[in-house]
Amino acid sequence: MALIVQKYGGTSVGNIERIKNVARRVARTYNEGNQVVVVLSAMSGETNRLVGLCNEASEFPIGREYDVVISTGEQVTIGLLSIVLKEMGHKAKSFMGHQVPVVTDSQFGSARIESIDPKRMRDELDRGVIVVVAGFQGIDPEGNITTLGRGGSDTTAVALAAALKADLCEIYTDVDGVYTTDPNICHEARKLKKVSYDEMLEMASLGAKVLQTRSVEFAKKYEVPVMVRSSFNDAEGTLVCKEDREMEKVVVSGITYNKNEAKISVLRVPDRPGIAAKLFRPLTESGMNIDMIVQNISHDAHTDLTFTVSKEDFKRALKLVQETAGQIEARDVIGDPNIAKVSIVGAGMRSHAGVASRMFEVMSKEGINIQMISTSEIKISIVIDVKYTELAVRVLHEAFGLGKGEIMEEAQA
Ligand code: ADP
Ligand code: ASP
Ligand code: MG
Repeated sequence: MALIVQKYGGTSVGNIERIKNVARRVARTYNEGNQVVVVLSAMSGETNRLVGLCNEASEFPIGREYDVVISTGEQVTIGLLSIVLKEMGHKAKSFMGHQVPVVTDSQFGSARIESIDPKRMRDELDRGVIVVVAGFQGIDPEGNITTLGRGGSDTTAVALAAALKADLCEIYTDVDGVYTTDPNICHEARKLKKVSYDEMLEMASLGAKVLQTRSVEFAKKYEVPVMVRSSFNDAEGTLVCKEDREMEKVVVSGITYNKNEAKISVLRVPDRPGIAAKLFRPLTESGMNIDMIVQNISHDAHTDLTFTVSKEDFKRALKLVQETAGQIEARDVIGDPNIAKVSIVGAGMRSHAGVASRMFEVMSKEGINIQMISTSEIKISIVIDVKYTELAVRVLHEAFGLGKGEIMEEAQA
């Protein structure tokens, strides 16, 4: 008997018909003799609707009550699936994050899981119950409801799988695996049979929203095998697992894009020690993540500094930076939300030179201006005007030979 955690995303539970489809899949796995823990998202569009209501209610709604509101979508789907499973004659029981409990820190809107007590779930599983858990939610040590950041039910699923020492964590979504790039914008995208934790970590953190980044961090840390599959067919899916030798041979394994960042430039900043610390401290103290940072060469003891933050944090960040810019006598602060970050990712980039220059050449040929660049061992990212995102992804996908069939040839070479 195996213990399997299955997570179903928003589109997979978007209406009652689809919830019934999920129930049939869950029942099939259970009837094959497995113990099953199901993790659900809210119905597709529901969390966006709830976030929208909070934004109507306040300019800066993020905080304790924001999580009380945006966590409610998952309560509905776990209740509905449990009702359907019971209708089918199964024992099923729903659990909110705090009933498990999934204990997190108190960073409302993007809390991190600190611990999960598997005892209650184990007792139910041993009684033959299908355990249905709300994704995305937790409770902090003071008893406040928290949420794990957008896409967070992936993280709930992998963390539960780690806590329960499950044999497999299946992520069911609206595509049948992890592709070389988003298959919804590039029809040439090719499904990967396997992807290493490290590559998936880069792809997720660079915008491939098929898995939330933190879910991959958990999977890597606890070596949870994760299978990404479609809830609408029985296609094989993609296994996210430890790196093997075959993977290293592929130079570039994926192209990602992220339209969820915004750029802030601080112009004519006095170039002296302590200024960057002063600018960024208020942002990090408010729990914001700063992504790319570029500082220009100094002219007459002044420099320009540009960085990116997530779109959710953009307005708050702009306000904080404007306050500091006034104190340090910078000339101006300019915000630009119309940007996209496009990245190429591949474990083989460690040992292959020339990937960056090829990327820049491709952009130049298309007349796409590169605004910022950042690199790590296995990725290169550029910031461009958002209107060129799809074009950039497609031409890079082609230039690096990621189209159907080509990657395998490279791996065998
Ligand atoms: P769910 O609601 O099931 O969690 P998401 O919308 O969060 O689903 O994630 C699935 C989506 O991720 C796909 O519909 C696809 O558009 C997008 N995506 C982006 N990059 C990739 C990729 N490399 N491979 C597969 N899907 C990707
Ligand atoms: N419902 C939440 C969201 O839309 C969590 C998730 O889908 O994973 O972000
Ligand atoms: Mg998701």
